[in-house]
Formats: sequence, C-alpha cells, structure tokens
Amino acid sequence: MNICIWEGVYEQKKLSLAAQIFIALVLAIIAGLVMQGVSEFTVTYIKPFGTIFLNLVKFIVGPIVLFSIMSGIVSMRDIKKVGIIGGITAVYYFCTTTVAITIGLAVANLFKGSFPMLTTASLTYEAPEATSGMDVLVNIFPSNFLVPITEANMLQIIVMSVLIGFSVILLGEKAQKAIEGITICNDIFMKCMELILKLSPIGVFCLLTPVVAVNGAAVIGSLAKVLLAAYICYFIHAVVVYSFTVSILGGISPYRFFRGMLPAIMFAFSSASSVGTLPLNMECTQKLGASKEVSSFVLPLGATINMDGTAIYQGVCAIFIASCYGIDLTFAQMITIVLTATLASIGTAGVPGAGMVMLAMVLTSVGLPVDGIALVAGVDRIFDMGRTTLNITGDASCAVIASNIMRKRQEK
Ligand code: ASP
Repeated sequence: MNICIWEGVYEQKKLSLAAQIFIALVLAIIAGLVMQGVSEFTVTYIKPFGTIFLNLVKFIVGPIVLFSIMSGIVSMRDIKKVGIIGGITAVYYFCTTTVAITIGLAVANLFKGSFPMLTTASLTYEAPEATSGMDVLVNIFPSNFLVPITEANMLQIIVMSVLIGFSVILLGEKAQKAIEGITICNDIFMKCMELILKLSPIGVFCLLTPVVAVNGAAVIGSLAKVLLAAYICYFIHAVVVYSFTVSILGGISPYRFFRGMLPAIMFAFSSASSVGTLPLNMECTQKLGASKEVSSFVLPLGATINMDGTAIYQGVCAIFIASCYGIDLTFAQMITIVLTATLASIGTAGVPGAGMVMLAMVLTSVGLPVDGIALVAGVDRIFDMGRTTLNITGDASCAVIASNIMRKRQEK
C-alpha cells in the first residue's frame, strides 16, 4: 500500500519536477556566467537560499535513512533474505569502488605530465584532524541511542536500523504493530522529503549560480586539467562499468538504465548530495524494475557508504597534489591510496563537500601534505557535482542488480 502512496503522489508531478530541475540547471549556468563580475553578490544573496534548501535536506536525512532501511528490512520478514541482499550489496559496492579508484589513479597518471609544479608557499587550508582507519571502524558503532540522529552520523544510523530491523523480524507476530509503525513513519518522512523536494528547482538554481559565477574563470588553466581528468574517469566508470553490470547482472539495457536515471542524475549533479537525491533515486530505480524492499535497503546504504565518484576524485587529487609538490608516488603508495580511498569513501557522508574533508585522510596515509587540498578546494563543488552523480548512479545500478538476482532466485 505504501508503494501506491509513494508512486501515486509522485506520478503526476514527476515529469514536471525533472523538467523544472533541468530548466533551473540551465538558467543557473546562464545566470552564473552573466554574473561573473558580481560573484560576491551571488554568494551573499543567492547562495543562502540554496543553503536553506540544503539545510532542509540535512534535517530530513537522518529519519529517512533510519526508517527506510528499517522498513526495507522488516518488509522482507526474513533475516536470511536480508543477509543475501546485504551480501550482494557489500560485494558489489566494494568491487565497484576498487575499480573506480584504480581507474582514477590510471587516468591521473596519464595526465600527470601536464599537471603543473606550483609554488605552494601561499597555501592555506585548515586541515581537519586526520582520522585513522581504525577510528573509522570504531565510529561506525553507536554508544548512544539519540546521538547518531542528532549528529546525523549516517554509518551509526545504519547500524541502528539494521539492529532494530533484525530485532523486529526476530520478534515475529508480537512485533506486527511495530512493522506497521515503521512503515507508516517511513511514509511520513518520505512525504516530508517530497515536500522539501518541491523546492529543489529553486535550491538547484541558488546553489549552482554562485558556483558558476565564482569559478567561471578559475577553471581555465591547470585546474581545468585535473577537473577534466576526474570527469573522464567518472564518464569511463559510468559508461563502461555500470553499463556492463546493469546489462549482465541487472538484465536491462544501459540505454534504458541511464535514460530512466536522468531525473536523479540531474538532481544529484546540481545538489551534490547523494542523500538528498535518495527519494528521486528510489523512484527512478523502482520505475526501472527494482523492487521497493530492495531499493529501500540498498539505496540509503549506498548513499552513505558507496561512493565511487568520491573514490575517483580522491585518487585523481592525490596524484595532482603530489605532482604539484614535485613528489613521485611509488607503486606501494598507490596501493595504499586504493585502500584508504575505498575506506574514506565509505566514511564520507552523502552531503556536499564531504569528500574533500576525507581527502585529508588519503593524503595523510601516503605522507602527502594536507595543505595541498587548498589547491583543489576552490573548485571542489565542480568535482562534487560529478562525483555525486556517479555515486548515486552506482547505488541505483546495485538496486537494479540485487532486485534482478532476487527475482531470479524466487523464480527457481
Ligand atoms: N557530495 C558527495 C555525495 O553526496 C560526497 C562527496 O563530497 O564526495 O555523494
């Protein structure tokens, strides 16, 4: 029944919302280019409306992840089934992220010759405290029931939802009311998110205009090359890896997949938030044939831990920063980058700019100066738009694939 509510409400608005986002995107680019001379104005007076929109998205994201994972788990009513889907998801996410960072390093190494060696004396970047791999692991587990929600700590929220979801299943008949309650809460927060999303064309316009106005000229030159390297990787990963996986394992043509994903792709590109794109992503994947129970489990998980675009960005930027400082990375250091970028992308929150903070961890792991982040910080938003788009496309491909595998198992 809740599928009907979700689909029904969106049915009438869907096309127009996607069209509105697209129009907002085009208008923002035009307005940004026109207002390059008054970029401060765009930052002071236009960006805050985008920030309001993002704040609303951040506000809703904790409950959305909590209830949608719980409702995905309880609707399966079978721990073994959750285990199988969880297993498929974990293996797929891990493998695609490793391939992504490998592509990132390979392409960045090809570009290395054209990256400049800079005088870096004037760099200023307040590095956040570096987080070790073990810290990331320990921090996944909550020590308090409320803090994960109040701090919007997504990994902890996921652990909470899985634990509670499993407990509800194990209680069986006795927890029937809890199942209904979780389903209703999920519908309420989805509805709330839908209301917030109605503002997305305005949000998109107000977020993108200052980016174009401020960066229009800055992307020319050396930064254009590192941006180009990252975007080539995003493109290769989407077109080669996801096309291959959705057609072989998901049973749908890449053309149908990417076309069906267009509204979510446009939204991710302009909002730079995987988590904010979650409801649209759910809608798109369900239209592509993913089941609701699978997508409400796989997508919130993916929006938090599966970041192929972020991994690519971290690999490309590590090579770029090393080359700006005249440092040649060894093969062993590259392997370390593959490992830490995979871990860092898991620990990255699905909100704008989070990947740049985690870049500090990758740089520290191979002894590169964290200050180097200042080199790419100015255009981070442009990296972020592409990496978020790839992040959510990867999540969607997993939902389509896991649904197809589960369908085939049931048919047997
Ligand atoms: N903005 C990205 C996302 O939401 C995370 C990142 O900064 O890499 O997926």
